[in-house]
Amino acid sequence: MATKKKIVVIGGSASGPKAAAKARRIDNDAEVVILQKDPDLSMASCGYPYYVGGYFDDRNMLLATPTGVTRDPQFYLNAKDIEARVNTEVTGIDRDGHTVSYRDMITGDEGSLSYDKLIIATGAVPRMPPIPGTELTGITTLQSMRDADFLRKIRDENTIKKAVVVGGGLIGIETCEALQLAGIDITVVELLPQLLTFLDWELAKLVETHVKSKGANVITENGIAEFLGENGILTGIKLQNGTELPCELAVVAVGVVPNVKLAREAGIRIGVTGGIEVDDYMQTSDSDVYAVGDCVETVNRITGRKVLAPYGDLANLQGRIAGENAATGNRVTFPGTINTGICKVFDYAAGSTGLSEQMAKKVGYGEITTVINASPDKPGFMEGLLLVTKLVADSPSGKILGAQCVGPGSVSKQIAQWAVAIQGGLTVEDLVNADLPYAPPFSLAIDHFIATAHIMQNKMKGRLKGITAMEVKRKLANHEAPFLLDVRDPDEYEEMRLGIGETLMPLGALRKRLNEMPVDKDREIICYCKISLRGYEAALALESNGWTNVKVMEGGIMAWPYTREK
Ligand SMILES: Cc1cc2nc3c(=O)[nH]c(=O)nc-3n(C[C@H](O)[C@H](O)[C@H](O)COP(=O)(O)OP(=O)(O)OC[C@H]3O[C@@H](n4cnc5c(N)ncnc54)[C@H](O)[C@@H]3O)c2cc1C
Repeated sequence: MATKKKIVVIGGSASGPKAAAKARRIDNDAEVVILQKDPDLSMASCGYPYYVGGYFDDRNMLLATPTGVTRDPQFYLNAKDIEARVNTEVTGIDRDGHTVSYRDMITGDEGSLSYDKLIIATGAVPRMPPIPGTELTGITTLQSMRDADFLRKIRDENTIKKAVVVGGGLIGIETCEALQLAGIDITVVELLPQLLTFLDWELAKLVETHVKSKGANVITENGIAEFLGENGILTGIKLQNGTELPCELAVVAVGVVPNVKLAREAGIRIGVTGGIEVDDYMQTSDSDVYAVGDCVETVNRITGRKVLAPYGDLANLQGRIAGENAATGNRVTFPGTINTGICKVFDYAAGSTGLSEQMAKKVGYGEITTVINASPDKPGFMEGLLLVTKLVADSPSGKILGAQCVGPGSVSKQIAQWAVAIQGGLTVEDLVNADLPYAPPFSLAIDHFIATAHIMQNKMKGRLKGITAMEVKRKLANHEAPFLLDVRDPDEYEEMRLGIGETLMPLGALRKRLNEMPVDKDREIICYCKISLRGYEAALALESNGWTNVKVMEGGIMAWPYTREK
């Protein structure tokens, strides 16, 4: 009789249990064991901010299957024939002896377990800024179930009045919302000039404006220099510019570092990024050891570069791959990431896939074209909500390199479509006639996604001469004095306007009032409206009447990232 294969998994949250479950499905006879340091299994860490923010109250929902069964050791044994040991920390890997040593964190007992194939799924640890005061009571991260419990208790007790979130990334912003919903006066402090660095600056600025509109404070371009305290308790923070902000709670969210301690000590190769090096099979430098999730580095499918991509979806996908390969020998591969992500920001979502403009330039794309499109996701009569998308394409080939989208509309759908287009290597021309599902409750007849491709096509063909809000702002700062033409109706102008020296002339009146336009037919004219659809039509009308230097401000007022007069 063949001996049973022993598969041991270190780590029992996202990627570990996924790997174990896949291995079990593929090999019904294998012995599959999960060793998990934390007291819980399969925690939905991506759900922590919503538990803290009060979207739901039952902590167990973070640990349960869709049918409500808690994923505890009994569940794993009964439903999957997997032995899952919690409160069990793996302390070492002996690769020659094919064993792992562990310590029971409750009893202190130590032991060892042999393996044929080992899967490391130890996740990541939160980064802490190297500044004074990090030991003070009142400073936390939001990385573990313990952190989530701590912050949820703060919400329930309702005693903390002021908090600071250090770091304006995905977790920082989600934590900001959660604490603000808990009734806490919140300030987000970010060292860089913008929140959410997966977005280009102008879209990040729209998100920042939205965060501020919800009553949260945002400080950018100013890092934290010190945590301040009295008698061991946090009382405030000091910023790099010397400003002091009083607070009773600080949540640090300045990124995570792959947890590679065990792998490194075992002599398993660590990659250039600091994550465990793995090949397409998720196999490490030791052919009997696989690694998955936040502890590994992966490859960016667009640039070919090694990257860290600590995302829950990738952790689960990688877990499946390693589970199958550990069970059967190398059969399936993981192709890497295109860095697709999304985060909720109060009533907005902010998502991105592929390369931002900033990133495309950084990795050496010389000729790229970008467009910004603002439009509702559905017709007005179905309560359409705004979407602002920035698309980045390679100019010579028209290949889509990246897309970002923010707004209260269906951002997730937009980003998902762009992600598949990028993965398929599709070009703008491939997408302008895409056959997508349409009915008014779900989209416009020409979906925002396709409209964005149309704008890109028009720009690439030279039919649309777009200009970004940032270029307009720069021209104004340089006193270049372009003729600024707002083609909306007067009531819209009364309600909301930029106040940058524009002339108001509704599109419907434009053709009759051409005599009011600049006499110099070569003068630069910049047209816009709320979303710049009417702005585009105005530009075409002016060009057909002889004006030669007419541009459209992309995304119109809805994509203007600066303060408006009204
Ligand atoms: C607040 C928050 C929100 C997030 N939101 C999103 C989101 O919206 N979308 C998204 O894609 N991603 C999100 N993420 C990221 C996502 O949760 C992670 O990418 C994912 O959990 C990584 O899975 P993992 O299995 O690699 O690691 P983890 O889920 O961190 O699990 C690792 C486990 O290994 C255990 N372990 C570590 N060392 C040992 C040891 N020596 N012995 C035994 N066990 C050990 C730990 O106890 C831990 O439970 C979020 C993360 C957080 C914290």
